[in-house]
Amino acid sequence: MMREKLETLGEFGLIRRIQQQVGTAEHLLRGIGDDCAIQRQSEELELLTSTDLLIEGIHFDRRWTDLEQLGRKAVAVNVSDVAAMGGIPQSLFLGLACAVDMSGEELQVFTAGVIAETEKYDVTLAGGDTCRSPGPLMISVTIQGVAPAGQAICRQGACVGDAIYVSGTLGDSALALQLLQQGEPVSEFLALRHHLPSARVAFGRQLAERQLATAMLDVSDGLLADLAHLLEAEQLGAEITLGCLPLSEEFRRACAEQPQLLELAMTGGEDYELLFTSSQQNLIENLHFDLPVTKIGNIVAESGIRVLREDQTQYHCERGGFDHFS
Ligand code: ADP
Ligand code: MG
Repeated sequence: MMREKLETLGEFGLIRRIQQQVGTAEHLLRGIGDDCAIQRQSEELELLTSTDLLIEGIHFDRRWTDLEQLGRKAVAVNVSDVAAMGGIPQSLFLGLACAVDMSGEELQVFTAGVIAETEKYDVTLAGGDTCRSPGPLMISVTIQGVAPAGQAICRQGACVGDAIYVSGTLGDSALALQLLQQGEPVSEFLALRHHLPSARVAFGRQLAERQLATAMLDVSDGLLADLAHLLEAEQLGAEITLGCLPLSEEFRRACAEQPQLLELAMTGGEDYELLFTSSQQNLIENLHFDLPVTKIGNIVAESGIRVLREDQTQYHCERGGFDHFS
């Protein structure tokens, strides 16, 4: 029998296959396929749960990662999945497979980062599991949060004509990573965007409370890859205006020297900004938010994502989004 290669299936093919093996459950309002699973908790509340795995050599490189910042980031990226549903994060569980070469002091620095970040989001470290790894450091984080019943914003729900918005700026984290990998100097701003992302909890809550978003997720694999998740949920398409992508000053400066870097704003991962669709453009544009919110395009009926330049010609990206198996 031919052995099926995981590369051919890809990360999302694998997840789909697992999804097909799973049945439904009455208590589970949403299972595999969203940023968090949604479980009915009471008449008023829904429980949100998400888990993330961070593996040394894949998600981080200890050569240029401060362990305290790594602890913080592990929490922030997990909390970001609750923010992506418009929920309130509450309890965190930490699984640790300690690297063979790590000392007790190093581990304490890491967990100090974890605790500091949980405090920032008013989350409690409520449990976990600890063991020794045969090699690299492996971190598993699970977050639980809640949302008032019916408020959670799913990946499914976008409609033709909805505007597409994104919070903050795109591409900074991927640019920082590229510079680090090439051994080039990284400014403090870019380094922080990579090592210490912010989960947009308050902003997600605002959208959920006011029911401003039809669909939402956080940008972890790159704008185009994550937008594709919103679209595939409804078999829709999107038109993105290249000139509207929100870019930081530092990112713009780098693009002025190397124009091909612009792709990182669309395909680079780990922005942890919120990407959402809305039918209430007037409301959104007249509300005050604590962070920039930019309209980058529209949902259309024709499937696929088209990135358009100012002269309406289509821009083609060379790179795809991040897939662990390709
Ligand atoms: P995110 O980037 O928001 O963390 P992923 O793209 O990693 O989400 O996962 C997409 C969906 O697939 C999520 O609902 C996640 O819970 C689910 N998923 C991923 N891997 C597995 C697995 N091994 N078993 C069950 N569900 C999984
Ligand atoms: Mg997510």
